[in-house]
Parts: sequence; structure tokens; C-alpha cells
Amino acid sequence: MKKVVAVDGPAGAGKSTVAKIVADKMGYTYIDTGAMYRAVAYKTLQMKKNVTDELILKAAADIDITLRYENGATRVFEGGAEITDKIRTPEINAIVSQVAKLGAVRDKMTGLQRKMAQSDAVIMDGRDIGTVVLPRADLKIFLVASVEERAKRRHKELTEKGHDVSFEEIKKSIENRDKTDSEREIAPLKQADDAILLDTTGLTIEEVTAKIIELCQG
Ligand code: C5P
Repeated sequence: MKKVVAVDGPAGAGKSTVAKIVADKMGYTYIDTGAMYRAVAYKTLQMKKNVTDELILKAAADIDITLRYENGATRVFEGGAEITDKIRTPEINAIVSQVAKLGAVRDKMTGLQRKMAQSDAVIMDGRDIGTVVLPRADLKIFLVASVEERAKRRHKELTEKGHDVSFEEIKKSIENRDKTDSEREIAPLKQADDAILLDTTGLTIEEVTAKIIELCQG
């Protein structure tokens, strides 16, 4: 079995959904690196000031993030307080890519992520796992899907949680995030040379997880 698995791709491609299922079936620890950037964004918004790079760096400087993966779900804590539900809102989506552009934030998160990957067999998802965080991963997957399909998935997810957002707004937010994530100077979203490309458009979750499990076993 592959010990270290990296899953990268744009927002809404299905990374966390499939990574969690693969983790449960194969016994991996699942590490959601997007949740860590979201925690920094959350702490920045909590300061209730204009969001500037300076404010983000201040929030990141003494952030204390814990990810606890239990019963198929990741619980996120900052300074001991649970923020799991608070980091998945349209407000966080709107600033998280700005947070993730900053070198000092990325250095800190990358260091934490590498430490988390040291112990067990892990499946880690994000944008730069195969390229920067774990370049020697045993298996790298790059998950993609059309922007329409990704927006549909996110719209369903957010409306089910009671957020009042339109499909068009979500599509725009995803497109903006994809652009910022792919065009940033440090650790941009891109497929590693040795990653396997998997287009999930029109595929079921079962089909995608079966394919990844096969790759993990190979
Ligand atoms: O995966 P998720 O959509 O929760 O990630 C939120 C944001 O965090 C991304 O849009 C990206 O800006 C940032 N991110 C990153 N590098 C990672 C994981 C997430 O820059 N490894």
C-alpha cells in the first residue's frame, strides 16, 4: 500500500469527499490542509478590521491550529475552541485565497503539514501537496472537474447547511479562487509532473474512490 498520498486540485473537484472515503477504507489519516488556511482566514475576520496583508500576518503569527480526524470528519480547533463549521462560509471563501498567497502564512502551514505527515500513513489534500509540501509522496493525484459541476456541488453543500447563496455567486467565487490559487507566485495550484490526472466530471463518488483505492493498492 502507498504510505503517503497527495491529492491536489481546484475548489470543488471532490478532493476532501473522496480523500475521506479512501482514508476510512484504507486506514489512512486524512489531513485537510485547506482547513488550515481557512482557520487563518477565520482568525483574521475575528479581528473585525479591514482585511489587509498585515492583519492576516498578525492572525497567522500566533495561530494554534489542531485538526482532529474522527468518525469520517475533520474537526478544526483554533486555540482550543472548535471552529469546524465557522470556516466553511461564503465570507471565508471570499478571503481565503488572499490569505494563502502570503509566503509567511504558507511557510508556517507547510511546516505544520509536513510534521503531521511524519507519523502514520496519510492522505493529504490541498493545492500544493504534490508539488511543495510532500514532493516525495508515494502517490500523487490531481483531481479536476468542470467549473459548472464544481459550482453545482458547492451550491448543494452550502444550501444544505442553510447558507443563502446563488449558483452564479458560487461559480464566480470558485473562478476567482481558481485564478488566485493558480496565478500566485508561491506554491501555485498546478499538477505535479508525476501526478495522475483524474477528471471527476460526470463520475460518481464511488467511481472516483474506487479508482484511487486501486492506485493506493498498486
Ligand atoms: O481546499 P479548500 O477549498 O478548503 O481550500 C481553501 C483555500 O485554501 C484554497 O482556495 C487555497 O487558496 C488555500 N489552500 C492552499 N494550499 C493548500 C490548501 C488550500 O493555498 N494546500
